[in-house]
Amino acid sequence: MSAEQSNIVLDISGVNKSFGGLQALSDINLQIEEGKTHAIIGPNGAGKSTLLNTCIGLLQADTGRIDFEGHDLTKGFMPHDINQMGISRVFQTPQIFPDLSILQNVMIPAFAKRDGSFKLNIFKALRDEKAIEEEALHFLEDLGMADQHHNHAGSLSRGNKRRLELAMCLIQHPKLLLLDEPTAGMARHDTNQTIELLMKIKARGMTKVIIEHDMHVVFSLADKISVLAQGAIIAEGHPDEIKGHPKVREAYLGSAEV
Ligand code: ADP
Ligand code: MG
Repeated sequence: MSAEQSNIVLDISGVNKSFGGLQALSDINLQIEEGKTHAIIGPNGAGKSTLLNTCIGLLQADTGRIDFEGHDLTKGFMPHDINQMGISRVFQTPQIFPDLSILQNVMIPAFAKRDGSFKLNIFKALRDEKAIEEEALHFLEDLGMADQHHNHAGSLSRGNKRRLELAMCLIQHPKLLLLDEPTAGMARHDTNQTIELLMKIKARGMTKVIIEHDMHVVFSLADKISVLAQGAIIAEGHPDEIKGHPKVREAYLGSAEV
């Protein structure tokens, strides 16, 4: 590995994925650098979620490699294995436990991360409980939710559920955080709070891939942007380069501003 490549956390090369006759991903090459926030933008149906799903073992790429920590993630790893390797993912639809408290929701992934198998290591998990609770409360403070931590997670607004899910990822201290439209369905106030939280995480040096429609979010956070259209990367660069890119404007037909 050359010195230039040494800070690449995730290296996607030559990835193709089709669903029947539909080529959802065509020869995707993407390198995610350590400590950076890399945004993937593109119209609906461009293949953004499909790309993330191939990285976390939910979908199997037809061809290509996805290298992370010395493993090729296309080689049949289960989502749980990939999560244990250090990749956490915020889904497009919040995946929380609605009947448990907000605090319990944040604590559960920490148990799973520390012990590999939650069920087999329950006694060790119980010994760790106090430390995990403190850390969970700390993350909830960051989210502005510490004062309501006893409430059922199901009672939260959709925007707060999404931010809760973010805390559930952060407590795992992932090496790589993948965010699929983290502000989708949020009111502007919630979006701004989420941007603030993501900026704090960025300042701590966490590597992130963010799929996002809201250009205010993208341009507030991204160090680099890749534009996906019809399954292919059509442009890549720093935010300023992408803003005025003719191909990007073309892909966003109907939106005058990118
Ligand atoms: P994006 O996240 O950019 O909106 P997706 O990755 O969800 O796009 O979808 C890319 C294309 O693949 C779309 O045409 C979508 O309909 C199709 N697609 C996604 N998942 C599946 C699936 N499981 N089966 C069949 N087609 C799919
Ligand atoms: Mg999507």
